[in-house]
Amino acid sequence: MTLLALTGCGRSEGGATPGSGGPAAYPYKIATTVGMITDIVKNIAGDKATVEGIMQGDTDPHTYTPGRSDTLAFEKADVIFYNGLMLEGKMGDIFVKMAARKKVVAVTEMLAEEKLGDESYVMSDEAEHYDPHVWMDVQGWMRAVKAVAKALGEYDTKNASYYEANAAAYLKKLEQLDAYAKQVISSIPKQKRVLVTAHDAFNYMGRAYDIQVMGVQGLSTESEAGLKRINELVDYIVTNRIEAVFVETSVSEKNVQALVEGAAAKGHTVKIGGELFSDAMGAQGTYEGTYIGMIDHNVST
Ligand code: ZN
Repeated sequence: MTLLALTGCGRSEGGATPGSGGPAAYPYKIATTVGMITDIVKNIAGDKATVEGIMQGDTDPHTYTPGRSDTLAFEKADVIFYNGLMLEGKMGDIFVKMAARKKVVAVTEMLAEEKLGDESYVMSDEAEHYDPHVWMDVQGWMRAVKAVAKALGEYDTKNASYYEANAAAYLKKLEQLDAYAKQVISSIPKQKRVLVTAHDAFNYMGRAYDIQVMGVQGLSTESEAGLKRINELVDYIVTNRIEAVFVETSVSEKNVQALVEGAAAKGHTVKIGGELFSDAMGAQGTYEGTYIGMIDHNVST
């Protein structure tokens, strides 16, 4: 399979590695992009660093245009963590630029070489674009936690065992979350385990928990959904008597509404089953504003 080349921002081959000197003082500064990355980095960095996540609330990372304060946060940071695999569509240039001067880590790109049986752990679509939505599989995000702990241990070598210990404690909680997700989803009869959403953010959840997933838009929300795709999905919903479809907090409801209306026009009632967190977590300071709360909410919904 000839997957698109990784940007390689997280790595610097040859010569001195930027950021290899370690922190000059504590707490040092980390800047991150999406909330899901921010949360795991906070859990592992503990009191050794302050972590500033630039994407708050229901921000859509695919279409996010960084502002001056974001660039400044990255400029000031000692270490940068981002998701990678093109999730942060318009921000790639910033990371390439910054990687020449400091440690910049694309978390999911570190997982691209990992295997699941014979296959790469990281999924890709028919056009061979990598799927960046790894957090939707709790075991996938556990891999990300290990990758973050490793990267922090490489940057701040004298605290490597501290990061390892924080990661181990957090991984225990994620293990419970994964078991909970498996238990809840498996209680839904297999033929009813169909998840129709606004965009293709749930492929990893589908693979991990045995759910058939379908999105109106593709892996990114950057291109508009075609009428053809909407009609295909309406036909599927009507033929298979699907009872519910789901909207996403970071994506407009418009396309999912079109499915509901399209099905109604063909005499089938499908309701909006609820709102899921796809590419953004809930409000800061709430349970849903944590990675664990986000997944718990999605699974329960
Ligand atoms: Zn997405």
